[in-house]
Amino acid sequence: MSDARRSLVGQSTPEILEVVTGLGESPYRAKQLASWIYGRAEPEFDRMGNLPSSLRQGLVADHVVNPVTIADHQVSSDGTEKLLVKMGDGEVCEAVLMPYRDRVSCCLSSQIGCPMGCTFCATGLGGFARNLTPGEIVGQYLLLQRLSERRIGHVVFMGMGEPLLNLDHLVKAMALLHEEVGLSYRHITVSTVGMVPQIRKLAELKLPIHLALSLHSPFDAVRDELMPVNRKWPVEEVVGALRDYQRATGRKVTFEYLLIDGVNDLLDQAVALARLTRGIKCIINLIPFNYVDTPNRFKRPKSERIRRFRAKLESLGATVTQRVERGHDIAAACGQLAGKSQGRLARRSQVLDLQQAQR
Ligand code: SAH
Ligand code: SF4
Repeated sequence: MSDARRSLVGQSTPEILEVVTGLGESPYRAKQLASWIYGRAEPEFDRMGNLPSSLRQGLVADHVVNPVTIADHQVSSDGTEKLLVKMGDGEVCEAVLMPYRDRVSCCLSSQIGCPMGCTFCATGLGGFARNLTPGEIVGQYLLLQRLSERRIGHVVFMGMGEPLLNLDHLVKAMALLHEEVGLSYRHITVSTVGMVPQIRKLAELKLPIHLALSLHSPFDAVRDELMPVNRKWPVEEVVGALRDYQRATGRKVTFEYLLIDGVNDLLDQAVALARLTRGIKCIINLIPFNYVDTPNRFKRPKSERIRRFRAKLESLGATVTQRVERGHDIAAACGQLAGKSQGRLARRSQVLDLQQAQR
């Protein structure tokens, strides 16, 4: 059964003010309420000690704090934690907490599933249900913040879904993270499959967020096969949009490059990639393929091939980083988020064992 009560997470302080005054309470209570919800990630009205019980009772009748709850929680041996997050209508998505020595980051979902159909991605293979609301997006952050002893200062939109297909809700969610939670826009990364009109719209907003493009090949013929979106917005066009985005915002951009054995890890692609990105203030982030049970049996390249690809890029003047893998043992790594039933999760952990054997 879905819960018809409205959630407060997803509303800004001015919107919460309307709720509070509508219940006949003093306006200054709105700030107190917002600071419980966003500042302390408190999900229960009962525990908001400095609010009068009249307000708490008034709220509980028509409102919940957070529209999302935890359906499952897994902890990896490397400290990564993955939540299966449940919406009011029973749909689920995944959110991942990634503690590092110098900071804590989290990876949030923007949609239930994803309609983009990339052939290497567990989310894409699972189909699409709907967009998440701003409250459901920020709600994931708040669930993770309650688990984390340290403050989560960085957010990446690299969970389930294509964030730019849900641009309005994404922008509202980022504004809440910035204004209510207090995160710097500079610490928010949006990763996109490459939707050109939406990239241009985002550029017009001039938010100092970090944009990452999942490029995965400099060649249309290869990218067409990996990502159906390329047939609509091919390589030159999407890289042009990133170049303009970089100029408009002044922010460095990232090109994400998934490495799949024998598909896009050949040195001619490294040369073309270096040429394509020359003159753009950018980083190329290499992501060795994480095992997903796809029909085309993609494999991760051996580390020697990855090293050669990277060395070629660097010899041509590119700045290159390599994604540090996290949460492999709980299928929380990039591209492995499927948010499906336990049955599916169990099947995935079997294929992961196979992959470990391959290494
Ligand atoms: N839809 C957005 C953001 C979510 S996917 C996008 O595609 O950019 C986040 C990142 O994980 C993307 O760069 C995506 O290409 C990558 N990814 C997907 N499947 C993967 C896999 N099997 N192994 C490694 N990375 C993968
Ligand atoms: Fe969607 Fe991104 Fe997966 Fe492609 S890689 S199917 S855009 S989540």
